[in-house]
Amino acid sequence: MSVAQIFDQVSFGSVKVIALSRNGGLSNAPFSSLNLADYVGDESAAVRANLALVTELAGASGIAVMSATHGNKVNVVSSLGLAPSGDGLVTREGNLALLALSADCVGFALTDSVSGVIAVGHAGWRGVLANVMQSVVDTFVLSGGKLAQTKAVIGPAICGSCYEVPSDRVSQFSEHPAAIFDETHLDLRAGVRSVLAKQIDSIYEFPGCTQESENLFSYRKASGQPTGRGGLLVIRSSS
Ligand SMILES: [Zn+2]
Repeated sequence: MSVAQIFDQVSFGSVKVIALSRNGGLSNAPFSSLNLADYVGDESAAVRANLALVTELAGASGIAVMSATHGNKVNVVSSLGLAPSGDGLVTREGNLALLALSADCVGFALTDSVSGVIAVGHAGWRGVLANVMQSVVDTFVLSGGKLAQTKAVIGPAICGSCYEVPSDRVSQFSEHPAAIFDETHLDLRAGVRSVLAKQIDSIYEFPGCTQESENLFSYRKASGQPTGRGGLLVIRSSS
């Protein structure tokens, strides 16, 4: 029997944040095996089965899956299934897991176990430039999340030394200097962290570079070949 494998996880009261590994699913190569995205060329039956495994792992009654567009739109959701297009999801529902998909991009989560509001976001270089981080924070607060009691989590992503980009892309980040690693590298996690840290005292970062870890999907590591998408999941249990 297949069991979705956890890369790392952390709990805050009734809220759990899980970074999923690429292992323990039903997809065949090159999506082996816990691919969670239905837009990369994988068999949709395998993706559905993998999402069911992840839902079971989380103890969720349903899962809302992000449909990322590399922008800064955020959706408030209350039901399972593929969410409307956007790079952030927020819910007040208990037992509904929120899932951000990525392979090198940064997944991040906001959790307020007291008010019961949770959120996930997705930020690649376009998302950092568009400041999707602030859009997720703003919608989280409008939904009742209190930043003074919020714990943020930043998921595994490609690290600054691995993420080489053209120098003219680096120069686009003059207003987001935290994301600049050097003249030819970006550190997306640092870019996400710098915005969150201005507003949230408690930030937990999962270690792990997607390109360096064999347990994580990485677009760069696949170097032009299709690959799967992993996920950062957040859920609040309610009885
Ligand atoms: Zn790395």
